[in-house]
Amino acid sequence: MGTLLSQSNKMSRSYTIRKMNGVEYLRRSMAYPYGCIGDEWMGYRLEDIRRSIPVEGEQADAGDFPKNIQEHFWIRPGENDGDSWMACGVLTNGNYFFYTGGCDYTGFDCQGGMSLWVSNSWQSIVDHAMSRGDYALYESQTAVPPVVAAGEEPWPSLTEQEFWAIQRGLRRCHECDQLGAENHHPYLNSISLCDRCFEGYHADRGSRWEEEEVANA
Ligand SMILES: [Zn+2]
Repeated sequence: MGTLLSQSNKMSRSYTIRKMNGVEYLRRSMAYPYGCIGDEWMGYRLEDIRRSIPVEGEQADAGDFPKNIQEHFWIRPGENDGDSWMACGVLTNGNYFFYTGGCDYTGFDCQGGMSLWVSNSWQSIVDHAMSRGDYALYESQTAVPPVVAAGEEPWPSLTEQEFWAIQRGLRRCHECDQLGAENHHPYLNSISLCDRCFEGYHADRGSRWEEEEVANA
């Protein structure tokens, strides 16, 4: 019975690489967490954030991650005190990776954590790095690229506008909690705002900024 259960759990995961069309438009959302990697003071040296894959003895080479990322398959933008950042893909050395990081309202320098799994086997990443919830999210936001002739694009390339029209719903506005937030908060790293709240911040920027200064003092 136990064997049957574990088999059915595994069967729900596919080992065919799935990708998000237009993932490059989300790359900049990784700038903040990736930018903290290597910071010894914050505790995010590469060796601090590496996580081992139980079935693999030796850790696969992560190179100078994240500089050596050849391709992202999927990115889930995060925000302070909200969703974790997640990303997976392949490195220039051919190894696959899965990264996840999260922090409190203030940022990674205050309360935060991040994890990096690297393997030469995509199946190991899927089975041992991604939690059930991580995999479900990855699966729901990606597709298996159709097989095409060399040099052809597997998908029609999306403009950034088209991409956001499809991806609306990935993020919630930090102010009003509505889905579809895609504006960067003017003062706080990696927090997103909907169009309306973003406008509001700009209209009212002086007093807002002062309030935040007082609140953070
Ligand atoms: Zn809003």
